[in-house]
Formats: sequence, structure tokens, C-alpha cells
Amino acid sequence: MFLISCAITAAQAAVAIWNVCFAGVFMPHLMNVYARLPMAFSHGEGAWLYDEQGRRYLDALAGIAVNTLGHGHPRLVKALAEQAGRLIHTSNLYQIREQEKLADKLADLSGMDECFFCNSGCEANEAAIKLARLYGHNKGIEQPAIIVMEKAFHGRTLATLSATGNRKVQAGFEPLVTGFVRVPFDDLAAVEAVAQHNSSVVAVFIEPIQGEGGIRLAHDEYIKGLRQICDAKGWLLMVDEVQCGTGRTGRWFAHQHAGVMPDVMTLAKGLASGVPIGACLVAGKATGVFTLGSHGSTFGGNPFACVAALTTLAVIEQDDLLGNALRLGDKIRNGLRAALEGVAAVTEIRGDGLMIGIELDRPCGELVQLALDAGLLINVTADKVVRLLPPMILNEAEADELVTKLSRLIRGFLGA
Ligand SMILES: *Cc1c(COP(=O)(O)O)cnc(C)c1O
Repeated sequence: MFLISCAITAAQAAVAIWNVCFAGVFMPHLMNVYARLPMAFSHGEGAWLYDEQGRRYLDALAGIAVNTLGHGHPRLVKALAEQAGRLIHTSNLYQIREQEKLADKLADLSGMDECFFCNSGCEANEAAIKLARLYGHNKGIEQPAIIVMEKAFHGRTLATLSATGNRKVQAGFEPLVTGFVRVPFDDLAAVEAVAQHNSSVVAVFIEPIQGEGGIRLAHDEYIKGLRQICDAKGWLLMVDEVQCGTGRTGRWFAHQHAGVMPDVMTLAKGLASGVPIGACLVAGKATGVFTLGSHGSTFGGNPFACVAALTTLAVIEQDDLLGNALRLGDKIRNGLRAALEGVAAVTEIRGDGLMIGIELDRPCGELVQLALDAGLLINVTADKVVRLLPPMILNEAEADELVTKLSRLIRGFLGA
């Protein structure tokens, strides 16, 4: 298909065919950084996406936890159309009413004090990292350090890839940003050990549920323990809720399951149902660290993105999508457990709400294409973990279909 639309040389065509077969689709003018599947979508409705040939797919990925309200949600479409006609962007040189409203709403839902808006997850995390460093400098710590986790994912900018616990993300981009101390995830003793000998630590930065790392959940007791250590040491507890936040786990924010308050929280992916936005929220001792001129963003918190977020939050609230995420999350996990019972190669089915991981005893990247062929969109992360992040508007029948199709695919793949 793309061979017809692009004038390319024979050599390029050979590379293109190679790429389709072995490393995703090649396009001559796109930087070749994604192993794309050789297909494209034309439109979507609810939890369904349609490809250019008119085939439909149940979307159990939601653009990697982004399309909270699924596709073409009538209330979001209407709100965005109206807002586009009114104002898309002004500037943070002026007051922005929609941004003020969104900050009020997020503060109300989270108990946090203040928000800074940007456009993506890594930017939200950059803000958190800068804020932690400034917090340290304000306390007279010249080389402030942040404790980060093994298998963490915080983004692809220099500071966030340095904070990420995955060598593949970092390789070739050295020198890395310094000032990170890495410890095993969900291991309080490891953090306590650092607390005893390292006096330049200013913060702990953690995903309450690791997403890219394989849907790995931190225990509530661990998060509570981190809160205690941070309180005792004067450190900031910073949670990266870029993937697990905004209702996906059945609470507004994943850390709320542990009943603690962080000092800093970052959000992005699902916050505006696909319109780019990021947010860095602060409470307690992190409040007031950034002052005039400390940080900024041209696009961050523009009226269009803020209306998308406000509408997303309003629909979650009005349609009880938190309850839906809890109910359907349990239904999907229990359904998969029942359907895959006795399959030894399925080592664990876990998650919270609509953030679900199915771990196998072997690499299973092939399942993505098999699922696609069966009309289902899923993802595999950390090599061996099937990751499900369906939109929060998923309904019971769709959840059932997901369980039936996926369990059949996994059994077929395993020959079980
Ligand atoms: C996706 C993700 C990021 C990075 O977000 P981008 O918008 O891609 O920059 C950061 N942290 C977590 C936990 C994520 O899942």
C-alpha cells in the first residue's frame, strides 16, 4: 500500500519489505524509532477501533492508557468542538480560566495543593525532578539525589531516561543525568539502607504500579513505609501516576489504595482522553518550592487541553467509571483466571482496576499480532507480560469478549 503512495528507490523498497517482515513498517520520511504494525485505523467508537479496510477491533490498550473515554465519546467531542471554536491556545502570560478550573478539580480529587501543567508524562516528571532538586538546594544540599526503582519507567527525556530502570532506554545516550540512586522495587529495607548512609537524598520517586515494568504492584504497606521514611528524613514522596492515575485503578489515583498522601504526583496519559497534557501536583512541603520563573511551558495547560481533561474527569464522575473500572477489572481478572486455570505457563494474573497484567513463563511478543488477527488490541511489556489497559467506558459484554478471545489466544499460543 505505502509502496504505491511513496516514490521510493528499489533499495528503499527492499529495506521496506525487510522492515515489514522483521521490524515493523518503514516509511521514508519518518524516523524509524517504532516497530509499527503494518496497519492503520480510520476511526473509532467507544471501545472499538476500525481499520482502513473496515475491520473492527476491541481496543484493550486505549492508546497505552490514554483514551480514558474510548473513541468518539459524544460529550468529549462536543466539548472539544465548542472549545476549538472559542479558544485553543492563549499563553501562560495571561490567566487561563479553564486551567484554573482544572487545578481546582484535581486538587479537590487528590487533596494536593497546587498544579503545574505541561504536555506529556516525561515533562511532568521533569518538573518533579527539577522540583526535588530545588527543594534540596533550598535545604542546603548541594548534590541532591533522588531514589528511583529497578524496572521503573519515567520517560525518554534525558533526566527521565536516567531515572528509568531499563538499560535499553538509556544505552547510547550517556552521559546520563546524575543524582539518582536505584533500589529494588517494593523493598523497604533497601530504602532504609540508603537512608542510613546517604545524606544527599531529597526524594523517593516511584510508580505505585509499574506499567512498562510489567504491571508490578507496590504493596500498600510498602507505600506507607515510604511515607514514614520520607517524613522522618524530610524527603519528598513523589509518585509517578502517569499511567496508573486518573481513575484507571478504580480510585482517582493509585496511591489512594494505600491511604497515604504523596508530596508530589505526576499525571499525563489518561488525563485528557488523548489530547496531550501532563501535570505535576504538589502538597505539603513540596508546595511553594517552584516560584516565579522556576519553570514553564509554552503549551502547558492551554484552554483546549484543559477542557479535554475537565470533560474526562466530569464523565468519570457522572458515569461512575471508577466503579466500572473496579467491577470490570475484577471481572476480567477472575474470568481470565478461570479460563486459564491449570495452564502452568501462565504464572500470574494481577492488577488493579483496568490495569491488568498476565505474566507468562516465556517471551510472548507474538501474541500482539495473533490478537490483532483475532480483532483484539493488546500489548506485551517486559517481554513476558500481556498488558491490558482498556478504556474506562468498557462495558460488561466487551469485558466478556475480551476474556474469551484473550484466553483462547493465550492457550493457542502456549499449545495448552
Ligand atoms: C508513559 C509513561 C511516562 C512517559 O510519558 P510520555 O507522555 O510518553 O512522556 C512516564 N511515566 C510513566 C509511568 C509512564 O507510563
